[in-house]
Amino acid sequence: ESLDKGLEKTKTSFFSKLGKAVVGKSKVDDEVLDSLEEVLVSSDVGVNTTLKIIERIEARVNRDKYLGVQELNLILREEIAGLLSETNSGDETDYSIPKDKKPYVIMVVGVNGVGKTTTIGKLAYQFKKKGLKVVLGAADTFRAAAIDQLQVWADRVDVPIVRQEMGSDPASVAFDTLSSAVSQNADVVIIDTAGRLHNKVNLMNELTKVKRVMQKVVADTPHDVLLVLDGSTGQNAFEQAKQFTKATEVTSLAVTKLDGTAKGGVVIGISDEFQIPVKYIGVGEGIEDLQVFNKMEFVDSFFS
Ligand code: GDP
Repeated sequence: ESLDKGLEKTKTSFFSKLGKAVVGKSKVDDEVLDSLEEVLVSSDVGVNTTLKIIERIEARVNRDKYLGVQELNLILREEIAGLLSETNSGDETDYSIPKDKKPYVIMVVGVNGVGKTTTIGKLAYQFKKKGLKVVLGAADTFRAAAIDQLQVWADRVDVPIVRQEMGSDPASVAFDTLSSAVSQNADVVIIDTAGRLHNKVNLMNELTKVKRVMQKVVADTPHDVLLVLDGSTGQNAFEQAKQFTKATEVTSLAVTKLDGTAKGGVVIGISDEFQIPVKYIGVGEGIEDLQVFNKMEFVDSFFS
């Protein structure tokens, strides 16, 4: 129910826009498909994914000859769920991590302001609640505020944090964090990294170095490279996904601020376009306002 509440804006807007688009219509024709295309694009589903969805619906119209607008919702829902299934296994309901990887290492990337620190704090809280031992690493050493904000969350959740001075080597912080986690027998390590996009080569070099140094402590780490995107920024989120996937191998997504936006469609578009699963969604500023992404719940909240 909190998901419904969190996504209220997305759902109202999508549903009412779609309703307006088909008013007075009984069957799906080119005009309805055009309106649908507009609704999807304005919900930030993204052009490529929108076209994919429209093509699939067109194919069904051609096959079945007649498609009533009442059925359109149902079919759209199926098609969107199908798209999300291609990248999201989707049955996850809790914050579980693989038991055979200890410590399980999550490297978090994303530009400033998207909700990276908040997401790390919320995640640490959830893992701790499950009885897991969490260690945070403040490897965003570019801004003093980033280190301080992470400290605030570490205190709030009551988990240890490894930090150095501002301007110190991020790879060195990551190394210390993993070493500390190993000696404490921790279950999960979450490493914050700097999100500077203005210099792509620097970003790439920095993330590569952080990874390489981490692997000196625990082989095959990070296990997860989690890209945090602000779901209310639409095309910017797409652009950031493009840049980060070029700079490093992103393995999962967290999409934040879906509570404050009419543009939840970005989740569908980005997951499809970059073929990366959405693991978490942020639906508020509070410590509990993070949810494990469940594709059917999401699609239902989009349509119901
Ligand atoms: P960072 O610079 O990427 O680390 O961003 P922060 O974690 O400091 O978050 C930036 C702002 O976004 C803060 O005011 C957060 O409270 C807010 N924020 C983060 N996640 C969410 C969310 O899911 N919903 C809402 N409404 N605000 C969020």
